[in-house]
Amino acid sequence: MKSSSKPAKDQTAKPKSAPDPVRVGMLSLGCAKTLVDSEVILGKLGGNEAYRLVPDVSDCDVALLNTCAFIGDAQKESVDRILQLVQWKKEKRVKAVVVMGCLVQRFPDELQKEIREVDAFIGSGEYAKIPEIVARVTGGQRVVSLGHPGYLVTAQDSRVALTPKFSRYVKISEGCDHVCTFCTIPTFRGKHRSRTIEDVETEVRTLAAFGAKEIILTGQDTTFFGRDHSGKFQLPELLQRLEQVEGVEWIRLLYAYPACVTQELMDTLRNSSKIVPYLDMPLQHASDAMLSAMRRGITKRRTADLLKKFRDTVPGLAIRTTFIVGFPGESDRDFQELLDFMKEMRFERAGIFRYSQEEGSPAGAMKDQIPEKLKQSRYDEAMGLQQTISRKFHKAQVGKTFRTLIERLADGKSGLWKGRSTMDAPDVDGSVFVRSDSSLQPGTFHEVKITSSTDYDLYGEL
Ligand code: SF4
Repeated sequence: MKSSSKPAKDQTAKPKSAPDPVRVGMLSLGCAKTLVDSEVILGKLGGNEAYRLVPDVSDCDVALLNTCAFIGDAQKESVDRILQLVQWKKEKRVKAVVVMGCLVQRFPDELQKEIREVDAFIGSGEYAKIPEIVARVTGGQRVVSLGHPGYLVTAQDSRVALTPKFSRYVKISEGCDHVCTFCTIPTFRGKHRSRTIEDVETEVRTLAAFGAKEIILTGQDTTFFGRDHSGKFQLPELLQRLEQVEGVEWIRLLYAYPACVTQELMDTLRNSSKIVPYLDMPLQHASDAMLSAMRRGITKRRTADLLKKFRDTVPGLAIRTTFIVGFPGESDRDFQELLDFMKEMRFERAGIFRYSQEEGSPAGAMKDQIPEKLKQSRYDEAMGLQQTISRKFHKAQVGKTFRTLIERLADGKSGLWKGRSTMDAPDVDGSVFVRSDSSLQPGTFHEVKITSSTDYDLYGEL
């Protein structure tokens, strides 16, 4: 060993300390698919010592915003949030603003031109590059990264939970091949791409190992799963595989497309002990004239037959759906047909949207656009009808017992816990409020006897 002439290093000298980790905050807007993307984005940063994820996006170094561009209202909310973050940057509460997702994929040029204070714009398919992009932004660069729309998650993607660990969304596909004339989603989420059954099963096993009890399957159209790479609808097969995953107690299905629902899927739900008797299936309208103008690929008759068959096949099935009122050319008769259909089918859960004239959508260019005032009055009437249906439905549940997943203590009310039954998806449906003197553990299931109800919620005791 060569002895050097330089004095030995001063052992007392303090080692050059590593720079403080960059504090990263996230705000995720829009649907459950975007929420999964946001969890994956945080997963790509979370494992890196250079970053520390912080809960408060108004007090961080790099503020991430995952946007929504579904319809006008959602776009407005996304822009408002961008401007909020930019304002916090001016106030030095955040150092850099990174905006990503559907709004960026849909309006890249307008956003870059109009909101120059944003440090990075990232398209909905670019999430693999997040660590490199955030490093460049932290180094003071302005970045625009746009590519193919829609990021297809895999089981290799680690995720940072933005929902309680006991209830997790799983995105089984990305994009959509349907051609609904009011919709622009395929333009910023891309064509339909399914994951493989093995890949989804691997992810669900991992989530179950980390405490997931409820797995909520999502996609633009979950019933189209597997069709792109196997030529057949593989959702029933996927569900039967996930049924075997230990630790999972509830499997919930969102975004079924009526024209892609099969008898095999119905039988799979009937024969399962884990797939909850719940179906989220947007129908959008009920008049044949509107269904054809919307290019939904189904008629009222076939829809009614499908719903009857599903209810006959799966006992206690709760159906959630959504309808659009005020679509171009919607006559009083079309609207009345929709109201009559809602009265006849009595959906346990239904959401109503006012038609949003979307740039670049076929319907957006249609003549006979409906005046906003008429759209609003039809919206109020349809919502009012659904409220009455919902009130009667919930009243009829009094006296019954429901297996309930406890979520948390109801806001500021001691001894009252907020939970969900198999009929309630998170965030969109009602709740089961449980009175209990003993403390209940979030993520546990309890048999709850319903003692009273409101228009959308149930109240009961253990
Ligand atoms: S199914 Fe229709 S409404 Fe849904 S994402 Fe596809 S095109 Fe849009």
